[in-house]
Amino acid sequence: RARNGHEPEFLQAVQEVAETTIPYIAQHDIYNGKNILLRMVEPERLISFRVSWVDDRGEIHVNRGYRVQMNSAIGPYKGGLRFHPSVNASILKFLAFEQVFKNSLTTLPMGGGKGGSDFDPKGKSDDEVMRFCHAFMTELCRHIGPNTDVPAGDIGVGAREIGYLFGMYKKIRNEFTGVLTGKGLSWGGSKIRPEATGYGTVYFAENMLARRNESVEGKDVVISGSGNVAQFAAEKVIHLGGKVLTLSDSGGYIYDKNGIDAEKLAWIMDLKNNRRGRISEYVDQFPGATFHKGETPWGVPCQIALPCATQNELEGDDARVLIKNGCLCVAEGANMPSTPEAIHAFQEAKILFAPGKASNAGGVATSGLEMSQNSLRISWTREEVDQRLRAIMSDIHDSCIEYGMEEDGYCNYVKGANIAGFVKVADAMLAQGVI
Ligand code: NDP
Repeated sequence: RARNGHEPEFLQAVQEVAETTIPYIAQHDIYNGKNILLRMVEPERLISFRVSWVDDRGEIHVNRGYRVQMNSAIGPYKGGLRFHPSVNASILKFLAFEQVFKNSLTTLPMGGGKGGSDFDPKGKSDDEVMRFCHAFMTELCRHIGPNTDVPAGDIGVGAREIGYLFGMYKKIRNEFTGVLTGKGLSWGGSKIRPEATGYGTVYFAENMLARRNESVEGKDVVISGSGNVAQFAAEKVIHLGGKVLTLSDSGGYIYDKNGIDAEKLAWIMDLKNNRRGRISEYVDQFPGATFHKGETPWGVPCQIALPCATQNELEGDDARVLIKNGCLCVAEGANMPSTPEAIHAFQEAKILFAPGKASNAGGVATSGLEMSQNSLRISWTREEVDQRLRAIMSDIHDSCIEYGMEEDGYCNYVKGANIAGFVKVADAMLAQGVI
């Protein structure tokens, strides 16, 4: 805490892991007295660099770029890049720390990392985004590689940005390797990767609900965000017969009492991914719906809530409203969207609650599958990747049950995910000595 006192998001992520793993460490002699958690909270490397680029009017801008290489005990660093004005060392350290546990849970050999920049892609032209991505990669390329560190997308980094980043890496290094995941299908990408985080979150919710003889079918579902994760979570809910009532962006949320069906979702995907518009435009297209400026959607009654936008977007009061309205299941698509107070409220009410490091791990798991396909220079079918994704989500769910089951039969998925993720990384670190 003394060393990282100015990094609130990082402290929040560490505290959540510490609360559940410290009692476990105390009960297991092999981990006791090895300062294992103290070693895990210090990044192996934190790189910060200048990114200078020129806008369409010829003006020069300077942004700050980062890569946090948190832990490589079980594999090359792996984790996304975020481009958003709020990006700083605290946010990237929290994301990188979470990523270590998440990647461990996927059962694939991937260490944890995260990176990005305080660059804001909103309102920038395509050419400006390209020049920024190229400038960013001219420095990042020294620190990454297919066997060293393999970044992917996150907030503000989608297919377009991965393309520009990959192009510059390939040009500088003169090699075509799987150095980034989330690539286009014709140049090394994996089928189902764009869908994987959102689909995986809903598969995880299905696993949780099945333990209570419930399913997504026929349920009212409230989703926040309208980016990559939210769009494909919504698509999978629709496939499974659930009713998606809301989506949002940083301007507010839309509520469609008739449900956002496949056709309406296709319109939203075009709005967000091609026209780069705002979610408020939905109500002009579909007049039955309402737009709630500056608000989050948690007041809309539902049985399932999927927070898929950003960290700390669901607070204690929101959690209490969800519980009062009869919500049975919350699965996090975003990273750390629920505050500690919200999580405690869900757990006290004994409703099903999955932390992002378990429920949104489908994205990085499918990135791991993209790395395997790149190494083998083959491409699996959509069905094959989807089947593996489902199996991985089910395995993660089983690991949470193994370590998170309480005496009264309630599964504390936070505890389960943290301990299951911890054990594998800690064992590898112990085997490798004090490094
Ligand atoms: P996108 O950039 O595609 O979408 C982000 C969405 O969240 C947008 O609707 C955005 O609205 C909204 N949002 C972002 N910041 C804020 C904010 N401060 N307040 C309110 N709304 C906000 O990102 P992704 O969908 O990829 O990522 C969403 C979450 O999922 C993040 O927490 C990310 O870390 C996590 N995640 C993503 C994975 C992936 O594979 N992409 C994998 C695992 C986790 P607006 O456009 O107005 O900014």
